[in-house]
Amino acid sequence: MNARDAGAGSAPPRDPLSRLEELARALRCLPGVGPKAAQRMALHLLQHDRDGAQRLAQALVDATRTVRHCERCNTFTEATLCALCQSNKRDATQLCVVETPADLLMVEQTQAYSGLYFVLMGRLSPLDGIGPKEIRLERLLQRASDGVVREVILATNFTNEGEATAHYLGELLAARELRVTRLARGVPVGGELEYVDAGTLAQALRERRNMGSEP
Ligand code: ZN
Repeated sequence: MNARDAGAGSAPPRDPLSRLEELARALRCLPGVGPKAAQRMALHLLQHDRDGAQRLAQALVDATRTVRHCERCNTFTEATLCALCQSNKRDATQLCVVETPADLLMVEQTQAYSGLYFVLMGRLSPLDGIGPKEIRLERLLQRASDGVVREVILATNFTNEGEATAHYLGELLAARELRVTRLARGVPVGGELEYVDAGTLAQALRERRNMGSEP
């Protein structure tokens, strides 16, 4: 400690509760965590699991520094291209469009699909001000127009927003002379892929239907 640091000791001591409050406030960035739950988590970490708290803090720093988007499919990866995009075992003529990396993992779990993916990292939601620009749909159009892709499978959720996104994309992609298909209705109305079992999803993939006219 140098002389200047020692001098800082003359400042009034911080309220010990303020750091705790800061932690609770920070935890509220987690989905579904309100003020009460955040406070419980903060107290738990400090009282019972300081090692866990340190690991969590380090993992957050590491992940936010190193995880980025795959340049080809937009999913999370630490490299320029994700492992799926780098693999030569995948069928590059098929492109499956999903909303999130979790949805990609769900489709992978079905083992019924061997093509490539594009992850939207969202969906159209005009009421929330999320339009084609906000989710950068032009990147998907570019990706699908590489001359190798023949079929685009729209595997957005069966929620209102997921359906609207599929409809919008279907029209744009069909105009580019691509075969555009949508998962079959095995997935329930309002259903999110993440919560559908792999068997149902595999069937929905196999029985996918054409959208619009076939090229
Ligand atoms: Zn990728």
